[in-house]
Amino acid sequence: MTDLGYAPHDDFGHIVQSPPRETLRPADAAGVAAAIRDAVRRGLRVAARGLGHSQYGQAQAPDGLVIETRAMRQVRISGGAAIAGGGATWREVLEAALPHGLVPPVLTDYLDLTVGGTLSAGGFGGQTSRYGTQADNVDELEVVIGDGRIVRCSARQEPELFHAVRAGLGRFGVITEARLRLVPAPGLVREHTLGYPDPYALVAAQLELLHEPRVTYLEGQVMWTERGWGYELEATTGDEDPPPAPGRPSGTVTEAWTPYGFADRMAPDVAQLTELGAWDAPHPWLTLLLPGSTAAGFVAATMAEMGPEDLGIGVILLYPVRTALIAVPQLRLPHEPVAFMFAVLRTATPEARTVTDLLAANRILYERARAIGGTRYPVDAVPFTAADQASHDRPVGPRMTAWRNAFDPAGILAPGLRQETGDPGQAGRPTSA
Ligand SMILES: Cc1cc2nc3c(=O)[nH]c(=O)nc-3n(C[C@H](O)[C@H](O)[C@H](O)COP(=O)(O)OP(=O)(O)OC[C@H]3O[C@@H](n4cnc5c(N)ncnc54)[C@H](O)[C@@H]3O)c2cc1C
Repeated sequence: MTDLGYAPHDDFGHIVQSPPRETLRPADAAGVAAAIRDAVRRGLRVAARGLGHSQYGQAQAPDGLVIETRAMRQVRISGGAAIAGGGATWREVLEAALPHGLVPPVLTDYLDLTVGGTLSAGGFGGQTSRYGTQADNVDELEVVIGDGRIVRCSARQEPELFHAVRAGLGRFGVITEARLRLVPAPGLVREHTLGYPDPYALVAAQLELLHEPRVTYLEGQVMWTERGWGYELEATTGDEDPPPAPGRPSGTVTEAWTPYGFADRMAPDVAQLTELGAWDAPHPWLTLLLPGSTAAGFVAATMAEMGPEDLGIGVILLYPVRTALIAVPQLRLPHEPVAFMFAVLRTATPEARTVTDLLAANRILYERARAIGGTRYPVDAVPFTAADQASHDRPVGPRMTAWRNAFDPAGILAPGLRQETGDPGQAGRPTSA
């Protein structure tokens, strides 16, 4: 691990390793443009890379060029917005914004992810239930497209590029700068953690809180306990608000945190996992978006089949988002007013099943989710074929071809989006791409 991230031939998943021919760290958009023009001339495939927190080679370029964005990490606050380099982390954005009494409306659970990386994925968090994704809260982007031109885009200026590049996984350009919306920082927030006996009760309670204006953050977890799987709802309210207690919770823990302290809540876990060696173990993560109407049943059936050996030292996230708040065409969502993020964050520690088995399990769950209208948040590790990719891209239809022609005419961008050639259920041996 280097400077918060991973070596260019590797990533947080530690499943696929593909050495690039070259790695560059340009200081600005002009440097990225020069690198891309040179790659086009030489026929090199190009992967943009934040800190490599994707899990299945998405930010790798087998025998190609990796463009690391970390040198572009300047952040300034201007006119109530953050102007951030594509390689800035959300921690750096937050640290710059807080002295102005401002915060990004949506933060990921982990702050050491880059702005360009999560805008290229989507960027979900406990505030997505109120504000949509991080990609919904960016007003303007500076992008270097696949012919080396530097283009500024927004919903009004070059809108097709703006739509292609957000959640585009680096397929249509490298984000070098973003103008990010900010909202007033709350005072203290009060965190509520409520236990529920099963996924049906947890999901019902979360749906009750989804439209509750006092709730400023809403997530949930499934964890292994002495009595089997346990279900927990996490919410924050303003410090003065009474605790919400929807449904019939079976236990309550309430604590108050400062907003910054709350945002950085993963830090102690990361320190502990690092000490145990689990942070650097393989991570065959699965991240699904399930239709709200069938999410509880899907989770109940999944948990009935799973034991702790299917998770290792990991966590499972389960929380609702309102799809009407998400207007990013590249994010594939179930066609229902509410979708549930169901993220099985597996760690292949020695007591867990093998990486191959866990990837096969991801594939099975992905197929089951797809059969009921679920989708995948594709920074995770699911063996995918060209046909899967085409079906994933179908909602944007012919726009995808137009985007490719306009923004990646040489076909050099994002070689790390792996496509298995055989049976994807048999795929996923730790291997080179
Ligand atoms: C511990 C941990 C916690 C996480 N928590 C969350 C969470 O709460 N919510 C959430 O939504 N996701 C979460 N993620 C997933 C995260 O959004 C993705 O992993 C994403 O990879 C961001 O990480 P990164 O900045 O290191 O980007 P990378 O992994 O380096 O890149 C991700 C993708 O974006 C592309 N890319 C990177 N930078 C750019 C750029 N500047 N321009 C164009 N394309 C680019 C890459 O080619 C790749 O396809 C988490 C991941 C980890 C490991």
